[in-house]
Amino acid sequence: MLITKPSYFDDFRCIASACPDSCCKEWDVLVDEASAAFYRSLPGQLGDDLRNVLHEEDGCTVMTITDGRCPMWRRDGLCRIQAELGESALCHTCRDFPRLRHDYGDFLELMLELSCPEAARIILSAPTAEPVQQEIPGGDDPEYDGEAMAVLKSTRARALDLIQDTSRDIPRTLAALLLFGCQAQGELDGDEEQPFDPEAALESAGEFAKSGDTSLILDFFSGLEILTPQWKARLSAPKSGPWPECCRNLMRYFVERYWLQAVSDYDLYSRVKLIVISCLVIHGLGGNFVQTAQLYSKEIENNTENVEALLDGAYGHPAFTDDKLLGLLL
Ligand code: SF4
Repeated sequence: MLITKPSYFDDFRCIASACPDSCCKEWDVLVDEASAAFYRSLPGQLGDDLRNVLHEEDGCTVMTITDGRCPMWRRDGLCRIQAELGESALCHTCRDFPRLRHDYGDFLELMLELSCPEAARIILSAPTAEPVQQEIPGGDDPEYDGEAMAVLKSTRARALDLIQDTSRDIPRTLAALLLFGCQAQGELDGDEEQPFDPEAALESAGEFAKSGDTSLILDFFSGLEILTPQWKARLSAPKSGPWPECCRNLMRYFVERYWLQAVSDYDLYSRVKLIVISCLVIHGLGGNFVQTAQLYSKEIENNTENVEALLDGAYGHPAFTDDKLLGLLL
């Protein structure tokens, strides 16, 4: 099995009490079966406290937050389970976060997730580098459509090259990515592979673009599920500034995270639009770009219903038509 991970993947270390947010805030923790059984079998005060906070929800065991925090969170920012029993006693959710696994059977892609402040800092400041690859024994037969995956891998590599080309500024790069996404969807649908000329595509798109409306986009996001009061406040008071160069890292992160997922439903273009819309919103809200991107990820990427709503909206919402998105970028 081939494992691929960003060059910075192994550099991640949780900064615990120095973390400006915390994965122990606001989220209920999904506890895997083995950990739940272990926690329920523990003697003493820790066992009693765990039995009190674990409950069943839709067939899964969940540790519910209390006063906005995980009930196992200590005032010094450390986890009580980890402090008393060691890291190996953590459930999978807590042990793995913010590491993401995309397992396709015969290959595995590892990533860090933007919703952790320390991971966001690393992702958005990492110099461009080839991902690290390692072949290990094992793996399963792939369950995906091999032809579609080959198109997705090849178009993803071309999208990443487009992002790395610094001869175009960030908004034009995003516009070019959107236009390339449209061509890539055609290739996924069976069109012959064609060379993509970004400058020619951008020139024709300039005639087609219509003025877009950021407030309509923010209205859409205000209608999604909201986790924190900070996010609600940010959506109602956007303060966009210049596009920072680290937005290329953000595009790369989104492309690496979402592009191949189109193998599940052949809908690549909605995912490309999700990437472009996400960058537009993060930039449009302004403030510290890394902090805004981290909060965005916590609110949107970590909520499956919000991601689904955004993919649906990318397909049919009037704020997200191609001409309006291009109008905001060109
Ligand atoms: S959000 Fe990241 S840095 Fe903060 S406590 Fe969780 S894993 Fe550690």
